[in-house]
Amino acid sequence: MQPPPPQDATAVEHLLALDRAHAWHPYTSTIDRDPVYPVRRAHGCELELMDGRRLIDGMASWWCVIHGYDHPALNQAARDQLEQMAHVMFGGLTHAPAIGLVERLVRITPAPLRQVFLCDSGSVAVEVAMKMALQYQQAIGEHRRVRFLSLRSGYHGDTFHAMSVCDPVTGMHQLFNQVLPRQFFAQAPAPRFGEPCSDADIADFQRLIESHRDEIAAVILEPIVQGAGGMRFYSADYLQRIRALCDAHGVLLIADEIATGFGRTGRLFACEHAGISPDIMTLGKALTGGYLTSAATLATEQVAHAISSAEPGVFMHGPTFMGNPLACAIANASIDLLLEANAGPDTDIRPSISTSGPGWQTNIARIERALAAGLAPCRDLPGVADVRVLGAIGVVEIEEPVAMRAIQGRFIERGVWVRPFGRLVYLMPPFIISDDALRWLTAAVVDVLAEPSRI
Ligand SMILES: *Cc1c(COP(=O)(O)O)cnc(C)c1O
Repeated sequence: MQPPPPQDATAVEHLLALDRAHAWHPYTSTIDRDPVYPVRRAHGCELELMDGRRLIDGMASWWCVIHGYDHPALNQAARDQLEQMAHVMFGGLTHAPAIGLVERLVRITPAPLRQVFLCDSGSVAVEVAMKMALQYQQAIGEHRRVRFLSLRSGYHGDTFHAMSVCDPVTGMHQLFNQVLPRQFFAQAPAPRFGEPCSDADIADFQRLIESHRDEIAAVILEPIVQGAGGMRFYSADYLQRIRALCDAHGVLLIADEIATGFGRTGRLFACEHAGISPDIMTLGKALTGGYLTSAATLATEQVAHAISSAEPGVFMHGPTFMGNPLACAIANASIDLLLEANAGPDTDIRPSISTSGPGWQTNIARIERALAAGLAPCRDLPGVADVRVLGAIGVVEIEEPVAMRAIQGRFIERGVWVRPFGRLVYLMPPFIISDDALRWLTAAVVDVLAEPSRI
């Protein structure tokens, strides 16, 4: 398909003026406006701006677009489903796309998770998981167990109960102090990924769960990778010990796999690094390959049946758009694509690359090697605190917060879309990204961070 010519500059200016007047972007002021860049189309791993500039996407649109933009299989799934129905309510009705999705999710997640509650976004999936834990403890007569134990540096979403278990310092606790439920927080896990966990490493968590066991309904955490709360990769051994402590104290374990699910860390789900299975799991972000908002909360039969066996005998939640057929059909196509044998890099854009491997594991391993090699030179730059890579996640941690506006502009000039936060410059590209594009992305990070103006 021939791309349309770049939009004329006055038309773009008009659009941007309307954006400035009325569009409230995430975490922004309506007075002191952050610059925004108008996108005309997106294909593969590239965003095309309205002025014709093309950017290699290092963010996969907040980690969702694992197969790249404008994917023929996902486009086709959306078109086919549109011909049947865009939406029907899930109360009292059901349909093949939703049934296909719950079957797939039960098949690919740890075995004890057998009941799937479909919902509309990650934060809602977390609210649903927390409500399940509360209803479960009520159902088995543990009426005092109404609080949650979480880890510092965690992130679980922006709605109220989700906020209450986000990191108490970098989260929004101060601001909403008066209304947020009070939870317990253990120190962020100290042992890194690949390291063992000592008794001292787990001591803070152990003390909290032992001394408050009668008040705690569930532990909620991001397994192995703490995402938006700090991009930290921690010990699988630590996670195993948490599972054992939850079992010992009758506390449920909620694994928030919204960021880690669907292969991002090198395993289909990050819990697999530790060989553990949670009682409740949340999924979102990459679920629909980044096409539509959708999420899921999975529970074991033990949790689901306990809730269903006690007053009021039902789980009390039901979003209007749960099980949306369009989202489910695209999610099914996305999962099938992920599990397909020949998911290689984006040959459509860079036909010269021939490293396509048998399956997503090979692809993630390829990206992991490229990120590790490409970002390594950052270690020698002044002011860089750490460089770490796990699966298709590459992180450069700086000692001081980066100057977001300036650094983002510099990345755009380099032809890449990279959006740092706080002290973190990171890459989480689509899984189909080519080796050439990865080299371009990592070189841009190294060069821009080497500039003195970055902080
Ligand atoms: C993004 C994210 C959420 C929130 O998902 P939304 O779709 O933005 O509501 C929750 N938990 C984790 C781990 C996330 O990364």
